[in-house]
Formats: sequence, C-alpha cells, structure tokens
Amino acid sequence: MVPTAERFDVVVIGGGPGGYATALYGANAGLRIAVVEREKVGGTCLHRGCIPAKEFLETASVYRTVAGAKEFGIAAEQPTLDFAVSQARKQKVVDSLWKGLQGLMKSRKIVTYPGTGTLGPDHLVTVDGGTELTGDHVVLAAGSVPRTIPGFDVDGRYVMTSDEVLDLDRLPASAAVIGGGAIGCEFASMLSDLGAQVTVLEALPGIIPGCDRDVAGVVARSFKKRGIDVRTGVQVHGHEPGERGTVVSFGEGESVTVDVVIVSVGRRPRSEGLVQPGTKVEIDERGFVVVDGDLRTGEPGVYAAGDVVATPAPHPQLAHVGFAEGIAVVKDILGEAHVPVDYSRVPWCIYCYPEVAFAGMSEEAAKRAGLDVVVQKLPYSHNGRAQILGESEGMVKIVAERSDPPGTGRILGVHMVGPWVTEQLGQGYLAVNWEATPGEAAAFIQPHPSLSEQFGEAVLALTGRGLHA
Ligand SMILES: Cc1cc2nc3c(=O)[nH]c(=O)nc-3n(C[C@H](O)[C@H](O)[C@H](O)COP(=O)(O)OP(=O)(O)OC[C@H]3O[C@@H](n4cnc5c(N)ncnc54)[C@H](O)[C@@H]3O)c2cc1C
Repeated sequence: MVPTAERFDVVVIGGGPGGYATALYGANAGLRIAVVEREKVGGTCLHRGCIPAKEFLETASVYRTVAGAKEFGIAAEQPTLDFAVSQARKQKVVDSLWKGLQGLMKSRKIVTYPGTGTLGPDHLVTVDGGTELTGDHVVLAAGSVPRTIPGFDVDGRYVMTSDEVLDLDRLPASAAVIGGGAIGCEFASMLSDLGAQVTVLEALPGIIPGCDRDVAGVVARSFKKRGIDVRTGVQVHGHEPGERGTVVSFGEGESVTVDVVIVSVGRRPRSEGLVQPGTKVEIDERGFVVVDGDLRTGEPGVYAAGDVVATPAPHPQLAHVGFAEGIAVVKDILGEAHVPVDYSRVPWCIYCYPEVAFAGMSEEAAKRAGLDVVVQKLPYSHNGRAQILGESEGMVKIVAERSDPPGTGRILGVHMVGPWVTEQLGQGYLAVNWEATPGEAAAFIQPHPSLSEQFGEAVLALTGRGLHA
C-alpha cells in the first residue's frame, strides 16, 4: 500500500451503470466508495445510449400517434417535426437524470474523482497520472465504445456512430444503417417514423440476430411495410461522398446514395490503459477483462462489471446486466451468498416499432440444444386492448418443455413483439428465471382488458385448455 494514497473500501473505475450500481449499492451497505470518472457519471447509458435513444423513439411514437389520430375521429393536421425542440427535450431528460444521479451519489457519501483512472499493482489507482487512491477492493467498470469498420471512418458528417446520431441538430432525409441488431433497428425505426428514407444493411441472413426468428420476422415485415429497405446477407464495401450525400457500396455491385451512414456494428470494451503491468488482471485478445463466475479478475480483490467484462455468450452488453453485476460484486465483497448472474436468461428489450422483448431460449436455440419443446404463439390481433390501441401487430410466443400432462414442463423462453412489450416482459422474465411451468404461471390472474392478458392466455393454452385461445 502507498501510505500517501487516500484509502477506500472500494475504488470503482468508471461511473456508468456497472460502476455506479456498485457504488450506490455498496454505499448502502456501509462501504466507503470512490468513483473515478473521466467524463460524466451515468456513462454511455445515460449520455449516449439507452436514455437519449429511447427519448427519440418516444418522439417517433408521438409523431405516429398524431399522424394516426384521424382514425379515432380526431382531426389533427399532418404533424411536422422541429428536431431542435426534440433534441432540447432529450437533453433536458438526460440532464435531469444526471443531476439526480449526482445528488444520489453525494447523499451516499460516494467520493467522485474526475479524470482517467489506471490500476497499478497493490490496488493503487492513479487518476490522470497524479492523485493516488487505494481500495481494499477495486472494480473495473470502464464500459465500451462503438465499434467501427474499415471503409467507414467516422467523420460526423457522412459517417456516424450512435454517439454522433444522438447529438444531431437536424434529421437526415436519408440514412443507411449498417448493422441490423438492436441499436441499428432502433435507429432505423426512429428515423423512418420521423420521415427519413432508411436502408438497413445487415451481413447476417436476418435482422436482430439472437432473437427468436418469428419475432424478428414480425419486425422485418413491419419495417418493409413502412418503407424501410432491409437488405440482409450483404457485406458493405465502402462509401464515396459526392455532391448529394454519399454512395454506399454493398453486396454484388449494389449501391445506395444517402445523406448519412450510421455504423451500428456493436461495441468494443474500453480497456486500453486501464491496467498497468504488474497486476494479475487478464485482458483477452478482444480487449475484455477476464473474470470468473463471481466477476473476480485474476488479481485478488479486483473485480470487473458492465460492458468491459468478458461475459459468456450471448454476451449481453446491457445497462441492467451492469446493475446486476454491480450488486453481485458488492455481495461478494461483503462475503454474502448470492446467485451468479445468469447471462443466458437476462431480459432483452428493443424499443423499435414494433417493440421486442424476450428472456430465455428461442425456439431455434432450444431445438439446437436437443430439447423437446412445445410452442404457443398468440397474436395481438386477438387482444382487446391491442385493438383499442390500434396496435394489433405482433405476438407473444412461449417455448416450454414438452410434458405429459401438458403445461407441467419448464417455461424455457418468453418472446414478445408488439405494443409496449418492453413493459410486459416482467412476468415472462420471472417465469423463465423461476423455472415456472405454464400451469403455475397460468394460475395467476391477468387484468382485463390488458396487453398482459396475452401472456396469461398463452400459458393457459399450453396447459391444453385455453380460454380464448
Ligand atoms: C444507442 C445505444 C442504446 C442502448 N440502449 C440500451 C437499452 O435500451 N437498454 C440497455 O440495457 N442497454 C442499452 N445500451 C447499452 C448500455 O448503454 C450499456 O450496456 C451500458 O451503458 C454499459 O454500462 P457500463 O457501466 O459497463 O459502461 P458505460 O456506460 O460505457 O460507462 C463506462 C464509464 O466509464 C468511464 N471510463 C472509461 N474508462 C475510464 C477510466 N479509465 N477512468 C475513468 N473513467 C473511465 C466512461 O467515461 C463511462 O462513463 C445502449 C447503448 C447504446 C450505444
């Protein structure tokens, strides 16, 4: 230990969801905590990710609602968009949450050090090469940054990542989104709803890889209906700026001219310079910090949480996974019993239109694993509330173990696509993680009329005797 360095129970490097969850939960358990943050606490999620992206998707939702008001007998003019106002509203939401988070951290006596933290031997953390801190425990929570691809250098004019898109002051008239994963689909959906001509270029055979194919199919059909050009199984080669936008070449000699290209091909861990030589922390060849099932690195007393962690497939880089990891780290530090994070059964939510939400195994994954499954699909077109909303696109799909009598095998996966499914997944997530059977889940009453009745109807149908299904 360095005698002059200020000592804490826990020093956290990085104040995003993984880092601030560790700090907030740890402080509530009586630990003295320092957080080193080079930019703003809240991290990607609050400033360049979840919150601003969902705020713009809500703008798109309001636009859709006003545009469709006539169907309800409400005469409203065709909406127009003042994106500067949308941008200012987004920033207000972000700043308000940021202020709240800073206040919460202060009230729990968490000490925040502005600057870049580096871990050296003996748990010594140096901030910007000057201030020194030591922690009985150190948590590496440096997060991630957008990946880029050759031929598409980010210039903020023609080529952007999510970081730049979320700071635009006006919307492009056309965009090519490279990558049809969760973030790419959210941007494609938002831009299209607000009037841009959007092309999605995805190298894999389908959009939203990892998601149940029936669910992804509903999104792909909805995108097509709304004029989004989804091109799957295509490689992009590069782009050539011209007088009117830039020409993106892809596939076998194909091209599209667009105002902007949005590169949305995943995120890489931000681990450069995070750890000095002389510790046993291992960084793998992709830049992720290697941990065991309790998020411990190779260096005793040093943990990692959040996007920087080399988690098992499907490697969910999600804010709520960072929260769960932060809590698990604190419990491990305190020597408390805790259930390790089960990465195969975390909730996934994609806020494009229509929304997607799922937990557990897709039908394809269950079959690949050699499981004998039964599947129940119920479309929202059968649901009263969905019809009232005028949003009957989509379905609830449940994958369960085949059983005799029916409905007594475990629920393996719950997959939803449609109205407000990101808010409906909760009970499906609990069912999967509690290893409930359809019969057990069906014993609970659903409010009527509600969208969540769809889940209740689907599990009831799996018992062999449905009500409406
Ligand atoms: C457009 C977009 C939309 C998203 N939507 C969702 C969503 O809807 N739901 C969801 O769950 N997830 C979403 N995510 C993912 C989510 O934002 C991340 O999973 C989450 O922010 C990861 O948290 P983290 O704490 O690991 O890292 P980060 O949030 O990246 O935070 C890391 C922090 O550490 C700081 N830092 C890094 N290195 C150092 C250092 N050496 N010293 C000091 N500070 C350092 C950084 O400045 C940063 O503040 C989205 C991401 C993007 C880009």
